[in-house]
Amino acid sequence: AHLDRIDTVDEKVHAYLHVDAEGALEAARSVDTRRVAGAELGPLAGVPLALKDVFTTRGMPTTCGSRMLDGWIPPYDATLTKRLKDAGVVIVGKTNMDEFAMGSSTENSAFGPTGNPWDLTRIPGGSGGGSAAALASFQASLAIGTDTGGSIRLPAALTGTVGVKPTYGAVSRYGLVAYSSSLDQGGPCARTVLDAALLHEVIAGHDPLDATSIDAPVPAVVEAARRHDIRGMRVGVVKELGGEGYQAGVMQRFDESVELLRELGAEVVEVACPSFTYALAAYYLIAPSEASSNLARFDAMRYGMRVGDDGERSAEQVMALTREAGFGPEVKRRIMLGTYALSSGYYDAYYGSAQKVRTLIVRDFDAAFSDVDVLVSPTTPTTAFPIGERVDDPMAMYLADLCTIPSNLAGNAVMSLPCGLAPEDDLPVGLQIIAPAMADDRLYRVGATLE
Ligand code: GLN
Repeated sequence: AHLDRIDTVDEKVHAYLHVDAEGALEAARSVDTRRVAGAELGPLAGVPLALKDVFTTRGMPTTCGSRMLDGWIPPYDATLTKRLKDAGVVIVGKTNMDEFAMGSSTENSAFGPTGNPWDLTRIPGGSGGGSAAALASFQASLAIGTDTGGSIRLPAALTGTVGVKPTYGAVSRYGLVAYSSSLDQGGPCARTVLDAALLHEVIAGHDPLDATSIDAPVPAVVEAARRHDIRGMRVGVVKELGGEGYQAGVMQRFDESVELLRELGAEVVEVACPSFTYALAAYYLIAPSEASSNLARFDAMRYGMRVGDDGERSAEQVMALTREAGFGPEVKRRIMLGTYALSSGYYDAYYGSAQKVRTLIVRDFDAAFSDVDVLVSPTTPTTAFPIGERVDDPMAMYLADLCTIPSNLAGNAVMSLPCGLAPEDDLPVGLQIIAPAMADDRLYRVGATLE
């Protein structure tokens, strides 16, 4: 049924970069054979899932939305891919994304944008727009995203779906093509909070292949999603995230959600996080700095594309020609920005200062969580904007990440869930719920109760 649905609608939506119809059917049949034989089935046996094209899949193309990796077939599965397969999940295909996960609209994909199923002339958010659009257009039951600065939550908010960035280190990054390693985190995308929780429990857990992986039990998120009771919880409204400059309909739905939290028995207070004002600036130094280092591996020798290798040119020349042809403009912008910020004369002024701001943001969160159980804010300042509107203005594009970025810098757990449609444009609005690191279960408890 999902493959039929893809046949019917994905020409218009363009959620998938690659559909593995044969592999999916084979995986589904093998689940069925096991079921008939009475064998033990994985917790998500037979559930069709759309995988962001940034996780390696053995034998299946992995492009990261880039020409650079066009035609590359990884020889190994990411830990996350392996866990999905072990759980019986049917991987339907790989989804569209901003090139190397750099972007907020999926317009930076080398293979063309994805449309927002609510209005195909609008962006679905980014960088994981394909995964969210696949869910919102019923082309998959579950999806996987990665969130470095909001790439799970932003698309979730703009497509009316649920997206969770687990605590940094909860989901293995082994086989996740690195953008900014200290920020990247894979996580679940779904249409309901409980679905997200079921997927969360499958993908989270310690992995010795990732040095930043947390060696501790995964919080009981499924149990939390079934609880439906938030009486007595303390909820903080982040003063700095909301109000002036935010779309009126977004604030209206957000305020209603806060009211609902009160009605459901939560105690709501306002919380100040003064350093959040500098989060966006710090992020757009730290993420490009790490990216400039991580993307050095695309050297025309090891993966994918190679241009100008005529036997005469030097390795450096081939490398330069390949990177010139293989990377899109936003990726080049980030590499230049990052290389500049890390250069010896500017390191202290830019990268060093950004790291200090990062510490201040961690402290703001620590202070807030000494008083409240979770924090809330809108996920994004506006609803989905028209395709093309911000492509020539990187600063306007970066502003979409205003509310999502602080949690990446601090590494805590955070969810976006739908909270209605903005009255002025009938487009989905996202509510962001933030919990301390390793308290991912609180997100699901609050999210499921609100839902
Ligand atoms: N929009 C942010 C960026 O371009 C976040 C992307 C992400 O989370 N991968 O860096």
